[in-house]
Amino acid sequence: MVKRRGNGRKVVVVGLDGATFALIKPWAREGKLPHLGRVLRQGAHGALQSTIPPVTPPAWISSATGVNPGKHNIYGFFKPMRHRYSRTPYNASDVKAKKIWQILHAYGKRSGILHLPLTYPVDRFNGFMVAGIMTPDEATDFTHPPELLDELRRVIPDYRLNISLNSWKAGLLDEFYEESVRILHIQREETLYLMDHKPWDLFWVMFHHVDGVMHVYWKFMEERHPYYPGETRFKNAILDYYRQLDDLLGEILRRLDENTDLVILSDHGHEMIRKHVFLLNWLRDRGWLAVNERRASPLERAFRMVGLQRERLIKRLERWHLGWLPKLFPEALKNQVPRGVVTFKNIERRIDWTRTRAFMPSASAMAIWLNVRGREPQGVVEPGQHYRALREELIEQLRTFRDDETGEPILEAIYTPEEIYVGDYAGEAPDLLLLTRPGYYIHEGFGPRTLVYAGRRANERSGHHHMQGILLLYGQHIRRGVELRGARIIDVTPTILYMMGLPVQSYMDGHALTEAFEPTYVARHPVETDDIVAGEPPPQTMAYSPEEEQLVIERLKDMGYM
Ligand SMILES: [Zn+2]
Repeated sequence: MVKRRGNGRKVVVVGLDGATFALIKPWAREGKLPHLGRVLRQGAHGALQSTIPPVTPPAWISSATGVNPGKHNIYGFFKPMRHRYSRTPYNASDVKAKKIWQILHAYGKRSGILHLPLTYPVDRFNGFMVAGIMTPDEATDFTHPPELLDELRRVIPDYRLNISLNSWKAGLLDEFYEESVRILHIQREETLYLMDHKPWDLFWVMFHHVDGVMHVYWKFMEERHPYYPGETRFKNAILDYYRQLDDLLGEILRRLDENTDLVILSDHGHEMIRKHVFLLNWLRDRGWLAVNERRASPLERAFRMVGLQRERLIKRLERWHLGWLPKLFPEALKNQVPRGVVTFKNIERRIDWTRTRAFMPSASAMAIWLNVRGREPQGVVEPGQHYRALREELIEQLRTFRDDETGEPILEAIYTPEEIYVGDYAGEAPDLLLLTRPGYYIHEGFGPRTLVYAGRRANERSGHHHMQGILLLYGQHIRRGVELRGARIIDVTPTILYMMGLPVQSYMDGHALTEAFEPTYVARHPVETDDIVAGEPPPQTMAYSPEEEQLVIERLKDMGYM
C-alpha cells in the first residue's frame, strides 16, 4: 500500500565505474572536464567509501540497496563453492535486499535503470530497465519491458549491450580503445533517448567501461609505472575517455530542470598497480594449499623444474636458432609448457583438496576461503574452535607478508567477516577479506613468482580498484562547494530517498547525507524512516540457465576476473 508520495522532485544518477578524484580534480582544475568541474564547484562532493572488497558487483548493489553485503548477499562475482570446487557467477536472483527501484515502486514512483550489474534477469517494476554486466552475451530478454529492446534497436544503429573483448584478449589496444568508445557512444544515445522519451522519477545510468579503460591504459599515462613506455598514442587514453563522459554529462545537465537533482558516483576508485601479487603461490609456498604434482605431465614437470615458462622457452629456442620449433609444434607446446599465469579454473582439478586448508577461488573477491568440513565439498578444517585458531594463524602469517625488494608490507588490512558484515547473509561471506597497499594487486591464479611487476604484456592490468570512490551531489537544496567527509556507498540510496522526500527504510545500514543539503531545508524536512518494504520477501526472479551461466563465465574470464 502506498503511504507517501514524496515531494515530487526527480533524481538523475550518473554512475562512473571506478572513477577517482585523483584524476578528476586536477583535470577539472585545468579545465579539461568543464562539466564535472562545474558540479564540483556548484554542488557538494566527497570521497565515497566503497564496500569491502571494493569490487563492482557488491559495491553497486550496496549503492542501490543502502545495505552492506551481509544483507544483500553479494561479495564478488562468484557464489561460495558449496557443492563443487568450481565457480558460479551470481545473478540478479541472488540479491537479497530491495533495490531502490523496488522501493520507489512501492511508493508509486517510476524508475529508469540502465546497466547496473546483477540486474539480469530483469525485475518487473514501475518503469524501465536495461541490464548491465553479467548479462549473458546471447540474451535478448535484458530489457524491461521486453519490447524496449526493439525500440532501442530502431532508434540506435548497431545497438548492443555487451562490449567485444576480442581485441583486448589479442592485445590489440588500438582496437580495444575504439571498441570502448563505440560502446560509450551507443550508451550515450540510449541514455539521452530514454531521458527524453520516457517518464521517470529516478533515472540511474551506469557507465562501466571507463573502469576497463583504466585497468588497461594506466601504464601509458603514469610515468612512474615500471612499464611506462614513454610518450605513445595512449598517453591520454584515460583522459580522452573521461572527456567523452564529461561531454555526455554536459548533455545530461542541459536536461535538468530546477525540480531535478543530480547524483554522480563511482563504486570504488582506481590507482596504478606496480606489482601483481600471486596469492595462490604464497598459500602454496606456506603449506596452506597443496597442488597435486602427479597430475602434471612429465614434460610439464621437467619444464617447471628448470623454471621455463612458455614465452621464455620460445625466446630461448629462438636464440638457439630453433625458433621454427614452436611453429612446428605450437599446440603441443601450448599444452605441455606451463604458462606464466595459470588460472584457478585451470588448476582447480590439480589442487589436492585433502591437504588444502585455505584457497583463493577468485582474485577479484580479494578474499581467502578456508576449506571447511561440512561446508566445502572436501573440507578439512574442523568448524568452531579449530577454524578460529587456524584463521588467526593465517592472519598472523599474512601480517608478515612483505615485498622482499622493498621490505614494505603488502596488505593494508585483513578483516574477518564478523568485523565488517552484519545481516542474515553474513554467513555466506568469505573467511578473510584483504585490502592491499597502494601499488599491489592480488592476481588470479599461480604466477611464475609470488610478486611480479605488473603490465609487461600489452593487455596486462596496470590499474586497479581502491576503496575511495567519488560522490557529487547537485541541485536546488544542495550546498555549493562543500566537501563531505565520511560518505559511504551504503548512504547513496538513503540520500536519494531523502532528495525525493521519501522515508529511509528502517533496515538500511546507510543514512541520508543531510550535511550536503542547505541547513534551512534540513530543518524544515527532517529525515523520516519507514519500513514499507522491510517485511516483504524479495521478488523471485529467474536464475541463469546452465547455458547462460557458461556464457557469463566465459565473459568474466575474458575480462580477467577468472
Ligand atoms: Zn567497478
